[in-house]
Amino acid sequence: MNKIDKLKQIIKESNNIVLFSGAGVSTLSGIKDFRSKDGLYNMKYKYNPEEILSSYFFFNKTNDFYEFYKDKLNCLDKKPNIIHKFFKKLEDQNKLKCVITQNIDGLHSKAGNKKVLELHGTIYKNHCINCNKEYSAEYVFGSKGIPKCECGGIIKPDVVLYGENLNDNDFIEAENYVSSCETLIVVGTSLSVFPVSGLVRLFRGKNLVILNRDTTPFDSIASLVINDEFDKIFNELDC
Ligand SMILES: [Zn+2]
Repeated sequence: MNKIDKLKQIIKESNNIVLFSGAGVSTLSGIKDFRSKDGLYNMKYKYNPEEILSSYFFFNKTNDFYEFYKDKLNCLDKKPNIIHKFFKKLEDQNKLKCVITQNIDGLHSKAGNKKVLELHGTIYKNHCINCNKEYSAEYVFGSKGIPKCECGGIIKPDVVLYGENLNDNDFIEAENYVSSCETLIVVGTSLSVFPVSGLVRLFRGKNLVILNRDTTPFDSIASLVINDEFDKIFNELDC
């Protein structure tokens, strides 16, 4: 049996699937993985992206933060791709119980998935650091300079920056889903970013499936690993 057929069989036989998705899922939608070799990290900018996307930078060089943020992280016009749509369908079939994602582009929600845990936050939520009023991504990306609240406070994206903690409640919920699911499908992440990578260690189910372009530290304990191009894998899965 080839690997795609094996994956089809696993999905067919599982009714408690959890998806864990990373930046690789978004690349088919034209969003760059800022950790990959050709991603944001290697683009020329005044500071390196890891520095800019930090809590320190946000509060101390807010203007520069927003210049970069609006330029590089605006994915308002991006659309869900074949991977997002595939997992939306699995949720509709009541097979997929939860999407856990490291992505901040909101594409799983845009695809229509209802249960999505965005561990690194999302560009679609923003709030005033002074009065907590919420603002849309359109407002933030459309503003000139630093986006400001009507109270005068600075608006901050609900995106987890370097130096900030993940949302505890979401993470605990993710842990519960991972530790109790039958099949965990990991797509598009090298599982190298802690603490998110530690989630996989909690898996106690039957099938750990890893779909990624490169190898991951969990490949040796996985039931199925496919290192291939995603459009090829998901086109075959879909038919
Ligand atoms: Zn305010």
